[in-house]
Amino acid sequence: MNPTDAVRMRSAIRQAVRAAAEDEPPIGAVIVHEGKIIGRGRNRRERFQDVTRHAEIEAIRQASRRLDSWRLTDCDLYVTLEPCVMCAGAIVQARIRTVVFGAYDPKAGAAGSVTDVFSLRLNHEVEVRGGVLADECALLLKDFFKNRRLLDKMQGTRAQRKQDALRVLRRAQQSESDRELT
Ligand SMILES: [Zn+2]
Repeated sequence: MNPTDAVRMRSAIRQAVRAAAEDEPPIGAVIVHEGKIIGRGRNRRERFQDVTRHAEIEAIRQASRRLDSWRLTDCDLYVTLEPCVMCAGAIVQARIRTVVFGAYDPKAGAAGSVTDVFSLRLNHEVEVRGGVLADECALLLKDFFKNRRLLDKMQGTRAQRKQDALRVLRRAQQSESDRELT
């Protein structure tokens, strides 16, 4: 394995760990330009209830802001999970030079697993390397979903947990307004 790939994948893994801490499936990405990280992203789909908040898209947005350009021609993207169709499309659109991903995604991967967007005859060619620190990246996801299943068993479904959290919040707000009235 290319040692630089491993170092940069560790930066993407750090973003994935942050996502997990926010109760999001742990997927992280970084974009490197001239040896420096200029974009970071983590999965935040749940928090914003927005399907476009994948780690890769967030990293692309930040890198574009940093470079003041939608063209990320000399940029390399590192992501802990094989990109989906949406992100693979965005990567081609952004003219990213190289994509390095960690774990393969047999259910939604668009870099060879389900389909291969990067092998289509599009106007831009991306170099792709997969399987970098794959076990580590996959274990993060596996542990996350295992914990979530355990939580679901103990506390009911995710929807139930959300309702419980809302009830606690409302009660706190209620007692606060009660205090204001007295
Ligand atoms: Zn995606």
